[in-house]
Amino acid sequence: MILQDKFGRPITDLRISVTDRCNFRCVYCRSANPENCRPESEILSWDELVRLARVFFALGIRKIRITGGEPLVRPGVEEFIARLRALGFDDLSMTTNGHLLAERCDSLLRAGLRRVNVSLDSLDPVAFERITRTRSCASVIAGIDAVQQSGLAPAKVNAVLVRGINDGEVEAFAAFARDRGVIMRFIEFMPLDADRHWSRDLMVSAAEVHRRIAAQWKLVPIPHAPSETARKYRFADGAPGEIGLIAPVTQPFCGYCSRIRLTADGKLRTCLFSKDDRDLRGLLRGGVSDDDLAFYIRSVVHEKEEGHRINAPDFVPPSRTMVFIGG
Ligand code: SAM
Ligand code: SF4
Repeated sequence: MILQDKFGRPITDLRISVTDRCNFRCVYCRSANPENCRPESEILSWDELVRLARVFFALGIRKIRITGGEPLVRPGVEEFIARLRALGFDDLSMTTNGHLLAERCDSLLRAGLRRVNVSLDSLDPVAFERITRTRSCASVIAGIDAVQQSGLAPAKVNAVLVRGINDGEVEAFAAFARDRGVIMRFIEFMPLDADRHWSRDLMVSAAEVHRRIAAQWKLVPIPHAPSETARKYRFADGAPGEIGLIAPVTQPFCGYCSRIRLTADGKLRTCLFSKDDRDLRGLLRGGVSDDDLAFYIRSVVHEKEEGHRINAPDFVPPSRTMVFIGG
C-alpha cells in the first residue's frame, strides 16, 4: 500500500537534501555569521541515501527532488542521480542556486535528471549581492541559459521577494520569463531564515505579484494538479514563458500536500515547519532491516501535520532553518 497520512493525503514526493553546505548566504535563508555545518560523519553517505531511496520506492514514492544546502557543492550528485534512475525513479528534479549549473548541466542531464529549478533573486548584480552575499548573478543567468539550450528546458526560476531589496523587480522578472521562455516562480518569504528577521512586512504576497504583472500583461490561468505548490499562468498575448505563484503564507496548500523531506543528516520531516524530525540515520547505522525501516517510515508519515500554522497566533518557527531542512 502506498504511503498515506491520517488525513488520507497520499504521500508520493520526497525531497532529499544531500548537503547542509552552501556557496551562497542568502539573507532569507542563512546567516552572515559562520554557521555550524554538521561534520561529514553525520551526513548520510551516498550508499545510505540509495538504500533509503530503495525503501521509499517500495513505499510508493515516485518523485524525488534533490536539494540542500546547495546540492552541486557535494561531489558525486550525478552518480547519485544515475543510481536513483537505476532504482526505477523517473521523476527526478533538482533545486540549485545555479552558480555551478552551466558547467554541470550536461552531466546532470546524462545522469537522468529531468527538471531543474534555479534560484535567481535579482537581475541586478548589486541587489543580487545584497541578497546572496555573492557576485554570482552573471553565472546564475549563464546557468539558466545553459538549461534553456539543453534537454532540461524549460527551467523553473525561483525568486523569493524581500520587501525593500528586490520587490521592485516583479515586472522585470516577468519580462525575463517572456524573453527567455522560462517558468518564473515567485515564492513568498517564509519564517525559515537563520537570522529570524522574517516579518509579514518583509514578505511580498502572491496577490501583489499577480496584480502587478497582470497590470502590464494579461495573464491566463493554467490548470494544475491540486498537490502542485504553484498557481500557474501563461501570457494571453502568446509570449513564451510562464508565471508561477507560490503562496505558502497567504494561501496555504497544506490540504493537498504530498511531500515529505529527508535532511542531509538523515532526519525525516513530514512538514517544512515540523517541530520535530525523526531519525532515520540512527536506525540505518544501527543495522535495522529494510522492512523495519519501511514500517517506521509508514508510522511517521501517518502522523504528518495537518498544516503549517504560520498564521496561528502561537506559531513558533522550527529550530532548523531552511538550509538545514532542504527547500
Ligand atoms: N541552494 C539551492 C537553492 O537556493 O535553490 C537549494 C536549497 S534552497 C534552501 C531551496 C529553495 O528554498 C530556494 O528556492 C530558496 O529560494 C528557497 N528558500 C530558502 N529560504 C526561504 C525562505 N525563508 N522562504 C521562502 N523560500 C526560501
Ligand atoms: Fe544557499 Fe539556497 Fe539557502 Fe541561498 S537559499 S543560502 S543558495 S541553500
